[in-house]
Amino acid sequence: MRPKGLLITIDGPAGAGKSTIAKKLAARLGYLYLDTGAMYRSVALAAKEKGLSFEDEERLALLAQKLDLRLKPSENGVKVILEGKDVSQAIRTPEIDRLSSLVARIPGVRKALAARQKELGKDGGIVAEGRDMGSFVFPDADLKFFLTASPEERARRRLLQLEKAGHKADYETILKEIIARDERDRKREIAPLVVPEGAIVIDTSEKGPEEVLEIILARVKEKLHA
Ligand code: C5P
Repeated sequence: MRPKGLLITIDGPAGAGKSTIAKKLAARLGYLYLDTGAMYRSVALAAKEKGLSFEDEERLALLAQKLDLRLKPSENGVKVILEGKDVSQAIRTPEIDRLSSLVARIPGVRKALAARQKELGKDGGIVAEGRDMGSFVFPDADLKFFLTASPEERARRRLLQLEKAGHKADYETILKEIIARDERDRKREIAPLVVPEGAIVIDTSEKGPEEVLEIILARVKEKLHA
């Protein structure tokens, strides 16, 4: 086993319940929770604040390389500190949902962020959540999960999340946006969203977080005792 414990990946489309599960799993195991979506979101927010064009691949890649970004473990998962400022809320708006999937298509951005992710995951003891964790960044992970759910259920969950965070949103718009974001994530040329080889697929449409967590924990126990 790796020095600090297992390397576990959780991938899947937006709203499949990855963050909720990854946070709980990391807390239960005493592992680091790596929210790679927060990294893409931070690049998008920084680019927007600096007024960069989302077509300018070179400058966006440079931005991703140089970004002063820290993910600090906190009670509700992770605090995202961008250039010394807490942007945990600012990166979770519908606009950043969209812009993050635009920057995520750029090879230089992915390369810069993947290098940071690999460094954080190299000793294990980590739950890495994203779109390409088990397929590209950590293809030799100890355990890989792929969470999915129907687009309607994912839109319903996203709507609740946004409303809770005080954003105005309506179901039909969210559903359309979630489908468009999935399309971009699945069809991009580099590291598209796929079910990683060897991943355990869990459909969460009709399962609560505790049920999903129990399924995953059973697999983790098996692995730890193998
Ligand atoms: O998971 P989250 O919704 O926070 O991710 C935001 C966006 O970042 C995704 O729609 C995707 O385009 C991108 N992303 C990615 N690869 C990852 C994590 C996120 O391309 N590993």
